Amino acid sequence: MAKLTFLGAAGSVTGSRYLVEAAGKRLLVDCGIFQGSQQLQDRNYKPLPVDLKTIDYLVLTHAHLDHTGWLPVLVKSGYRGPIFANPATIELTTILLKDSAHLQQEDTLHAIVHKDSRHGNPEPLYTPEDVDPTLKLIKSMPRSGSFDISPEFRVTSYDAGHILGSSSLELAITEGGKKNIVVFSGDIGRYNQAILKDPTTPTSNADVLICESTYGDREHPEGDSAEILAQIVNRVVKRGGSIVIPSFAIGRTQTFMYYLRQLEDQQRIPRLPVYVDSPMALDATDLYLKHKEDHDLEYVREEGSDGKGDPLNVHEFHLTRSVEESKAINNVKKPVASPGSAAARCAQCCDPRGIPGRGHARPRFARRRKIAQALRPGRAGGRRNRPDGTILCSRGKERVVALADGAAHASQADVSNPRRAGRGPGVAGRHLGKVSVESGGGALSRYRASG
Ligand SMILES: [Zn+2]
Repeated sequence: MAKLTFLGAAGSVTGSRYLVEAAGKRLLVDCGIFQGSQQLQDRNYKPLPVDLKTIDYLVLTHAHLDHTGWLPVLVKSGYRGPIFANPATIELTTILLKDSAHLQQEDTLHAIVHKDSRHGNPEPLYTPEDVDPTLKLIKSMPRSGSFDISPEFRVTSYDAGHILGSSSLELAITEGGKKNIVVFSGDIGRYNQAILKDPTTPTSNADVLICESTYGDREHPEGDSAEILAQIVNRVVKRGGSIVIPSFAIGRTQTFMYYLRQLEDQQRIPRLPVYVDSPMALDATDLYLKHKEDHDLEYVREEGSDGKGDPLNVHEFHLTRSVEESKAINNVKKPVASPGSAAARCAQCCDPRGIPGRGHARPRFARRRKIAQALRPGRAGGRRNRPDGTILCSRGKERVVALADGAAHASQADVSNPRRAGRGPGVAGRHLGKVSVESGGGALSRYRASG
């Protein structure tokens, strides 16, 4: 009898790790770190209730750290099996794990110097030296279609439309001549989004569906994102301000670059200098350009049959690679738009003390938490939330606008979209917090019923 154990992402939205045991073999689906509160981060240091050396195989749904960031710990603990992922996920995971190790090392150093650790002897979860042995275990699997991990486990990948390479995995488990099917949705993206194809629903009759629905309890703000962005840009340009766009390096930065380029070409906004304040975001953009298999039809059309269109490249583009270059953005006299830089620049603009240049481009965890709080709708303190999903902040005489749109996670309507008609007697909703269990559960009930 196959057995499924949740080793994370239960009662929280991070730390996705699912252990499947069948026919004497063990398969781990995803291996994420816990992110968020200190209490959650502490869980990254706790051993799992399974001997990690006894796990035989591992497969990834996508590259985000809450699905991959614990891999180096797993390998440090003795895991030597293959880690299967599609080519785009492998390349993104490589970037993210290296960055994660670097940040952990840096934060540990900060904790030692400033003596602000709750632990007597702070240690990084892993270091850059731990990442290489992990990357050596990663093996390529197809972007779509079926792939035999072993005689017991066969996965079929479906596009999840969340970030580049993201997949829902249908796992066929064969044991004693019997077959069971478990579908792991992975993080699910949105319909009709920029760049990426829509999510695709696995076609089989699943025995169990594990549905991750981070925003399954809420709806995204109404409205045309491009139009909202155009209004903000024109409003700020009129008064000569700059626009700070909080953007994850993977996914959101590319989405905003796409919208800005489109708006410029349609002459709905003037051509502005755009600074991407994150080399990692640019590396990720290169991968978004490279992996054409994930592009939707609209993107393909804009790229043109000769491939000469460049939908992710604004007309006046600057990349900041060093702290000094990052600080120099403050001296630009023209209006600027700056995606990819949330942590750095908002540290400045949202910090009530407003210390110019400090913490720039290298914000610490504490500072990053403050930024997240500052950008959360409903917060007070020099900021004013607007009905169009933007938040206005004050920094001296200059007003800075942060756009709180562009989420890569499906909303409740997306999860329960009839196009996602899934079937299965067992439905487990992960990523549904306390508040969201009721409403998210409702969405999942409809999801099941719609099949
Ligand atoms: Zn994700």
